Amino acid sequence: MEFVSTRGQDRTHIERALSLGLASDGGLFLPAQWPRLTPQNFDGADTTPRIAERLLQSFFADSSFAADFGALCDQAFTVHTPLKPLRDGQTSILELFHGPSGAFKDVGANFLATMLAHLNRGATRDTTILVATSGDTGSAVATAFYRRPGFRVIILFPDGRVSARQAHLLSCFGDNIQTLRVAGSFDDCQAMAKAALADQTLVQALNMTSANSISLGRLLPQMSYYAEAALRHHRATGEALNFVIPSGNLGNALACLIARQIGLPISRVLISTNANAVLANYVHTGSYQAAPTQATIANAMDVGAPSNIERLIYLAKQDSSILRDLDSVSVSDAAIRTRIQTFHQTYGEIICPHTATAAEMLAQRRAAGDEAHYAIVATAHPAKFADVVEPLLRLAVPIPESLKPWLARPAQAARIDIGLDALKAAISS
Ligand SMILES: *Cc1c(COP(=O)(O)O)cnc(C)c1O
Repeated sequence: MEFVSTRGQDRTHIERALSLGLASDGGLFLPAQWPRLTPQNFDGADTTPRIAERLLQSFFADSSFAADFGALCDQAFTVHTPLKPLRDGQTSILELFHGPSGAFKDVGANFLATMLAHLNRGATRDTTILVATSGDTGSAVATAFYRRPGFRVIILFPDGRVSARQAHLLSCFGDNIQTLRVAGSFDDCQAMAKAALADQTLVQALNMTSANSISLGRLLPQMSYYAEAALRHHRATGEALNFVIPSGNLGNALACLIARQIGLPISRVLISTNANAVLANYVHTGSYQAAPTQATIANAMDVGAPSNIERLIYLAKQDSSILRDLDSVSVSDAAIRTRIQTFHQTYGEIICPHTATAAEMLAQRRAAGDEAHYAIVATAHPAKFADVVEPLLRLAVPIPESLKPWLARPAQAARIDIGLDALKAAISS
């Protein structure tokens, strides 16, 4: 299958789309065709890797991955993503936080790492992955590549602007992972990563690429948990499932919209944002206007210019039905705090601040009379955001077993100034 850039000047094959990240014309890669599948196409597929294999195999047909694709799915799809019913009988939680770094980004990062490792087998040079993170991407990419032969990872995060647990998790690796605390904002980190990836001498010297959320190798696997949840619900009830999804860069929610277009039994898609309301404005007005980023307590969604919106606009031009049964609402920090408390009282469940935006959006729909079955997408484990959640609930959030070994290690990130020179000095030492 061919892959095309949203800006129309780059057509390529899956291997190059995965290793480049961004297309050469500055656009984002998408498959040139989409498969059409029905629930019956998944008959007999009962595990996450088998469902993912049927869903994704056409994108990898005729590639160097094709012969091993089933085995690659076994290696890539190891994160358990249960659909847990709540006690009201009309709401479920799709828990995407059981991976090694406690956030949904583990699924995409592990798939990308598996595929890049397959591509690089037999390579004589190490590949360097440079990633700027607002909090969760960095630790997902780090755990996916930790001690993987042939890879080195450099993480940039904004010092003092991530939660205490996020900072510890980002800084605990060592070995082939180097973490740098930048004396600036996430935007500064991103600008440094961009400058480094545009510096051809540096890129050649380190054999450097990126692993940020625009990578097709993260978008495609994210469809798999929507497919699995929707199929399980459909097999049990004969009905399509509705989702409420917390969103920042629109990577996670876009995967759900695409899974619906492909033919999975998904009905309504509700997208919640924090105070950064760019997506909600786009859905309501049909016009996209980037805005300066505002800091919120759902910091992994602090995005003023969601990068994946370029993919959504491109797809909507080809087929506007991708926008059907779609709504979006912006949720304030105050409403997030109240919802974390109400949700715990009502359901006995502790949710993270990002997940709380979805819970709040659904509560507003319920108040307006919507009684359909919804799955709230839980994007991170609440223990990662203990500094927000614990004072609100006046209890200690238990740390999941998957995070304990990492958090028991010492944190060791060097602090550096803003700018490419500071980055170069730190990574050559
Ligand atoms: C990254 C992240 C989000 C936002 O996901 P997008 O794909 O950028 O929309 C939401 N919640 C958590 C916990 C995250 O880490």
